[in-house]
Amino acid sequence: MTADAPRVRFAHLPTPLEEMPRLRAALGPHCPRLLVKRDDATGLGLGGNKTRKLEFLMGAAQAAGAGAVLTYGALQSNHARQTAAAAAKLGLTCDLILFDMVAGRDPVYRVTGNPMLDRLFGARVHVVNAGDDFGAIRARVMAAHESEGRRVYDVPTGGSNAAGALGYASAYAELLGQLDAMDIRARAIVHASSSGGTQAGLVAGRLKAGRGPGVIGINVAAADAGAMRASVLALARETAARIGAPAPDVDDIDVRDGFLGAGYGQPTDAMREAVMLLAQMEGLLLDPVYSGKAMAALLHLVRAGTFAPDETVIFLHTGGAPALFAYPEIGTATK
Ligand SMILES: *Cc1c(COP(=O)(O)O)cnc(C)c1O
Repeated sequence: MTADAPRVRFAHLPTPLEEMPRLRAALGPHCPRLLVKRDDATGLGLGGNKTRKLEFLMGAAQAAGAGAVLTYGALQSNHARQTAAAAAKLGLTCDLILFDMVAGRDPVYRVTGNPMLDRLFGARVHVVNAGDDFGAIRARVMAAHESEGRRVYDVPTGGSNAAGALGYASAYAELLGQLDAMDIRARAIVHASSSGGTQAGLVAGRLKAGRGPGVIGINVAAADAGAMRASVLALARETAARIGAPAPDVDDIDVRDGFLGAGYGQPTDAMREAVMLLAQMEGLLLDPVYSGKAMAALLHLVRAGTFAPDETVIFLHTGGAPALFAYPEIGTATK
């Protein structure tokens, strides 16, 4: 379905689809069957959901004759880390403009986890502190490439354009194939939603298939969930058009609110509970910013009786565990 789009293959696919039996038992007899789609295990530079997008983004970069990529994110951006790894693998220069935007973190937040790995992959990291001029920093990066005669491919924040979202349209098809082979009809996929490319791609993939589990995105980033809904819808429409799927409408975009807490990257009690529960029930590492909050939402939905015990719900594990090292207090919290 994405055959005409340039793509570089480096993800470990298909990612596993696994049961979570101890978590299910811990949640009691009303809990649905719970499966986890292991997109934390996409294989590139500690993995995560950006790797599927980057197969198409790097394909586009190579098709455009780029010798460098530039992208953006928070200091602990998993997207920036996976972009740096992909660029290293393909021999492209990589610049990362990272915003120091999560208030109240320990100094360790700035150096461990993802930014440590960015530098290890050879990326040039440009940190934007409060009061810094982002435009001037970006212009300096572009001018340096221009003077060296290198074409730069601009990867948007989170890799969320229509090229990147193709990665999740094809992920939806991959998941449907696995469910068919297991003879399972699942009710829903629950995942963390931020820049929107993951959700947009899944929604487009579902419309292309004309069947399959509903897509529930948990807002972990936007103060205004309405704005997130609108941008996911716009990107889902663009993605659907590229793969010849019917156009999505507002009812296809299910973005749930209530799990963000004080803001992007700010810990919540429900996130801490989810991270510890999954580590101790399933040996799975979630992250504090995205998958921990999405799992907190799934736990809430299960406890509220949203699903029947004979239904199946899939948690899309989007990765992010390297950021755990920037939140060391989580591992020392008591239950
Ligand atoms: C980027 C990211 C997400 C959100 O994906 P979007 O496509 O940006 O909505 C979820 N989980 C993790 C771990 C991420 O790094």
